[in-house]
Amino acid sequence: MSTGFQGKFHRQNMLSRFAKELVRRSRSKCELCEKSGAKLEVCELPPFGEEPFPDGCVFICEECRKQIDNPKKTIPSHWRCLNNSLWSEVPAVQVASFRMLRRLAHSERWAEELLENAYLDPETEEWARQAE
Ligand SMILES: [Zn+2]
Repeated sequence: MSTGFQGKFHRQNMLSRFAKELVRRSRSKCELCEKSGAKLEVCELPPFGEEPFPDGCVFICEECRKQIDNPKKTIPSHWRCLNNSLWSEVPAVQVASFRMLRRLAHSERWAEELLENAYLDPETEEWARQAE
């Protein structure tokens, strides 16, 4: 596995190649908050394997990305969308939703309840619990 700047560049380059496929999968809406008409970006979910792959990524808007990357900027009301995204047919979307809910459940009762009722298939749940 290549490391350093070149490795990072290579990875970004690969991720950008998934955009076309992810546009189709997401129908051009943020896969978490369903915002349409927004600029969407490919966000790879940890843990990162040797090579990125589309099913290991979510296609999300800048607002969702910002809050995922900066726990201090989390606005709980924005994440009511997880009510829907948690039931997505796309495992990566379920994983991203599940992880965000776990973060919110520390302070938000609704998130805790949603988590209690969540059902992920065992393989997806194992993935969701990695990289914690
Ligand atoms: Zn979004």
